[in-house]
Amino acid sequence: MAVLLADIRNCTACAAHLPLGPRPVVQASASARLLIVGQAPSMTVHATGAPWNDMSGEQLRRWLGIDRELFYDAARVAIMPMGYCYPGRGSSGDLPPRRECAGLWHARLLAQMNQVELTLLIGQYAQRHFLGAARKGSVTETVEAFADYAPRVVPLPHPSPRNTGWFKHHPWFETEVLPVLRERVRQALAPPYGAAATEVPAASKGRAA
Ligand code: SF4
Repeated sequence: MAVLLADIRNCTACAAHLPLGPRPVVQASASARLLIVGQAPSMTVHATGAPWNDMSGEQLRRWLGIDRELFYDAARVAIMPMGYCYPGRGSSGDLPPRRECAGLWHARLLAQMNQVELTLLIGQYAQRHFLGAARKGSVTETVEAFADYAPRVVPLPHPSPRNTGWFKHHPWFETEVLPVLRERVRQALAPPYGAAATEVPAASKGRAA
């Protein structure tokens, strides 16, 4: 794993397309139990080199019910964006994650993390890549159908402050998805490691029809 992470951190495969240059932001270890797959580093994350070290990360940690110390414990939490480097800005926010990372690194990184109990797929790019035909017609529909992916995967919207309107219009996310998410995270990270995720009670699985 150390060699692979060093190779990733030295990657310059798409340097010509990165306005701030390569700075892959990845956290991983062979013992990680929780895998967080996001989109791409923000400019703030690029500047600090720490994943989710911004307002989106504060919101994400609140969703998960874990503090910064646990979040940044690579022995327990792996953080792999779809694109590892800051991609630059477009007319309506940050550009999509670079596609090169998926082909170059994802499979090799995942192959060395065989203790993962729970994977969080944040946003459209992660859901498209990992769920493929199993995802629904939109991020909203995929998140709403979170019970379909239990117990090892939870699809999530991006926790960006830019999505405040989405959270207001979909209050079920806070009341129905987050309690299940926190319980699954607690199970995945609770010592002794290796405890398999247990089924969530039917009453808290997915949205009521
Ligand atoms: S975005 Fe991915 S492929 Fe491009 S330089 Fe960074 S690590 Fe390499």
